[in-house]
Amino acid sequence: MRVLVEQIDTFGGQPIIIGAGLAGLLTALYLSPEPVIVLAKAPLASGAASAWAQGGIAAAVGADDDPALHAADSIAAGDGLCDASIVERIAAAAPGAVDDLARRGIAFDRSPGGRFNLGLEAAHSRRRIVHAGGDGTGREILRMLIASVRQTLSITVLEGVEARRLLMADGRLAGILAQTGAGPLVLPSSRVVIATGGIGGLYRHTTNPLGAIGQGVAFAARAGAVLTDMEFVQFHPTALDVGVDPMPLVSEAVRGEGAILVDEAGERIMAGQGRGELEPRDVVTRVVWGHITEGHRVFLDARKALGVHFTARFPTIAAYCHTAGIDPATMPIPVRPAAHYHMGGITVNETGRTSVEGLWACGEAAATGLHGANRLASNSLLEAACCARWVATSVAGTTARSRSNLQPTATPGDMVDANPMRDIMARYVGVLRDRFGLRAAIEVLRPLAFGDHAAADPALVGLMIATAALLRKERRGSHYRTDFPGPAYLDSRLSLAVSEGDIAAHFVPAISTPIAVGA
Ligand SMILES: Cc1cc2nc3c(=O)[nH]c(=O)nc-3n(C[C@H](O)[C@H](O)[C@H](O)COP(=O)(O)OP(=O)(O)OC[C@H]3O[C@@H](n4cnc5c(N)ncnc54)[C@H](O)[C@@H]3O)c2cc1C
Repeated sequence: MRVLVEQIDTFGGQPIIIGAGLAGLLTALYLSPEPVIVLAKAPLASGAASAWAQGGIAAAVGADDDPALHAADSIAAGDGLCDASIVERIAAAAPGAVDDLARRGIAFDRSPGGRFNLGLEAAHSRRRIVHAGGDGTGREILRMLIASVRQTLSITVLEGVEARRLLMADGRLAGILAQTGAGPLVLPSSRVVIATGGIGGLYRHTTNPLGAIGQGVAFAARAGAVLTDMEFVQFHPTALDVGVDPMPLVSEAVRGEGAILVDEAGERIMAGQGRGELEPRDVVTRVVWGHITEGHRVFLDARKALGVHFTARFPTIAAYCHTAGIDPATMPIPVRPAAHYHMGGITVNETGRTSVEGLWACGEAAATGLHGANRLASNSLLEAACCARWVATSVAGTTARSRSNLQPTATPGDMVDANPMRDIMARYVGVLRDRFGLRAAIEVLRPLAFGDHAAADPALVGLMIATAALLRKERRGSHYRTDFPGPAYLDSRLSLAVSEGDIAAHFVPAISTPIAVGA
């Protein structure tokens, strides 16, 4: 532990946004002209999953579409655990959110007549994926947001500054503790937005930036915030399997264009399964996983569907493939499942407020109720874009409290390291789960999570995922227990609250009834 060396008062209690992906940067822009500080532990545009989004943004903008259909598809994917009112609100706001991004300068791909070129992804009943730069939607969005933020004088971006703790004083949120290249510092504020993204970096195989280790979720938990749906981790079935960490994604949109999944003998592995390659993501993932664990290899074959047109439609994916010596026009692409998206996170209401006064969450770190047990493809950029506006409105409408007296404090060590747990998560808390594996993971993670260890925060998040997975005794969406035969229709969403020293788990609405870990 090192003693705190610097406390910065210059910013006079401005709201602080932790994270500079779509959620964080757009919240900052919506807050303008109110002054705001944005913290990014990595340089802008690197370290944010937003920049890597390929498929696009789901919105009912097609002539044959309607927000009610989009909402129905989202609810079906969520397998009974979506919050219908949030789903309807976000589906209804989606066309406006896309318009807003277009007005801010995103050149979405359109036909010569000006209509959106709409992509199709799994479990969508209509073509409704708005995209930019072919498969470069996220890159285009972040480029525009970064340029806008740089031109907005009310926004102060602190790059290379990593938040480490929420600071409480007299039981209230009072600021954050951060680590910089020059040492630790304190930023006082009574209004903080967590926009730290996902958790894929906790797993050995992931499509996420390796810094996506759920730090914001850990901060919120340690500050007493309620978390929901932690057990629901989406594994993408088609990460490019060429030994690169993190694994480049081969978007579902490639299957949307007709590419098929085959084994090493060229046999189609999704033949006879409902909508085939466009079955929901969790279904496709389990089929791919099953083949791989039986010793087969799995490939995405786009030769017939796209052939020489592959590079024009999917330039980013084609570049990943070519770097690995694969020509997708003439060769099948090797793929395997990888941790991709976290449906759960910090429980928020429709304005993004958490259960801790003065704390909001936005983007993948938040659990709004949109995704339930399984996210519908391309609903996450949408969620971040819609919620950023609602969070900004709520933050702006909340008066800053006068500064609390923040005593110099100690900060955890120089680095945060998820490496010690990545194999444990992959082995025991992955695509298929059972009580023995989950208990084994909890045994290893618990001492890490509550000790003075570089892996403490990532381990806490992993521990909460494993604990919630152990408590959910059924198969539901992305959560597949091999020791239970199917869904048990446990309709409740599972919430967890953490206290330093131990973890107590609660079912909503019976929040006050703790269930011991290992139950
Ligand atoms: C390869 C890939 C493709 C995807 N494709 C799509 C798609 O087509 N459509 C779709 O809807 N979704 C897609 N997703 C999901 C989507 O990109 C993310 O869910 C979404 O971008 C999350 O946005 P965010 O702003 O919450 O987090 P991010 O964009 O990940 O940003 C998180 C930010 O927080 C910062 N940060 C983290 N911890 C700290 C800390 N302690 N201190 C300071 N800063 C911190 C990071 O550096 C980063 O700036 C994809 C995801 C991946 C990985």
